Amino acid sequence: MEVNIPRKVRLRVAERIRLGLCLVCDSKAVKRQLCQCHYDQYINAVKCLPSKKAKLHFERRAREAGDVLGAYELREYKGTNRFAKYAKGVSE
Ligand SMILES: [Zn+2]
Repeated sequence: MEVNIPRKVRLRVAERIRLGLCLVCDSKAVKRQLCQCHYDQYINAVKCLPSKKAKLHFERRAREAGDVLGAYELREYKGTNRFAKYAKGVSE
């Protein structure tokens, strides 16, 4: 799924992750970088959609707006080791 998240949004999302806060309000983030209340709202909104395609479209729009994190996106934000790239393909 191609998601084009603007730099400005990425910076805001990274800051919320650093602080451990929900992307929508100032409560503690529990899932997908949302607090329990906003995560429930997100899930309820997704449930109402008629097809998998509509769900993917919805998620893409929400991610591009920085209102939710992708399922594995937190790993990408947190697992950013600047030097990991140098270790790739290096043998003894
Ligand atoms: Zn919230």
